[in-house]
Amino acid sequence: MFPWLARSFKQLSDRIAANKLHHALLIQGPSGLGKASFSLQLAQLLLCSARQDGNACGRCQSCLLNAASNHPDLHMVESDKQIGVDQIRDAIKKLVSSAHLSGAKVLIIYSAHTMTESSANALLKTLEEPTANTFLLLTTDKPERILPTIRSRCEKLALPLPDLNTTMAWVKTQINADVDINLAKLFSARPLALVAELQEEQHFSYDTFSNGLDALLQGRLSSTQLAMDWQDSADKVVKWTQYWARLQCAELVSESIWELNIQATKVTQQLRNPGVNKTLVLTQLLDKLALTKAT
Ligand SMILES: [Zn+2]
Repeated sequence: MFPWLARSFKQLSDRIAANKLHHALLIQGPSGLGKASFSLQLAQLLLCSARQDGNACGRCQSCLLNAASNHPDLHMVESDKQIGVDQIRDAIKKLVSSAHLSGAKVLIIYSAHTMTESSANALLKTLEEPTANTFLLLTTDKPERILPTIRSRCEKLALPLPDLNTTMAWVKTQINADVDINLAKLFSARPLALVAELQEEQHFSYDTFSNGLDALLQGRLSSTQLAMDWQDSADKVVKWTQYWARLQCAELVSESIWELNIQATKVTQQLRNPGVNKTLVLTQLLDKLALTKAT
């Protein structure tokens, strides 16, 4: 379990041991915090037939099936866009049939806020009258988008956020390298997102961006030169610019930062046009950025 979620996990496992876990949990926290992994481990614990010290044993039939991602009593619903009513109906049908392994049954609904209104309504009855030993784990980073009727029938569990040191220490173990503290600040409550970012974007890191900016602000490089060097990572430049602006805002919110953000949004749209002159739009963006430091 992730170090920042270990305590929450222990509290739930104590309640499972005491048979006092609510049948429906709404697990909340920002994306990149570890909600999916947390829910899956919780499901595996619920399904384990020989729990040991608050953890799944790893050896019983349930645990072996889970290790093979093939447990017949663990059901999951997720969708890139919207969770449709058919997905929910299918899942409920599986859930109400008797357990294959005569233990618990678990349904995880990832990003539950993407359920349509009909999906949510289809789920209501199951939430109100769950079959015995059945658990529903809903995860979300946007709880306010979930229908009140669903929310009110779940126990809400807001997962704790890691502090900066915890994030940096953990990310370091994942990427085997030190993490830039400013970058970590931007992602502080989302360590998994930070790791994904670092792994995905090694060719154009925040360091590269930040070093280039120093050169620009000190007059060693022109905005056009940087824009030419960076045009292949144009989307990333915009993203880092927005992050950089957010970092500056921690100290001082100025009109020029505000304008920089507007320009960044505009450039994001311009870059969607395949015929766009990337060097030109990046130059304009970098000029705006340089202005924030000049004032
Ligand atoms: Zn087990």
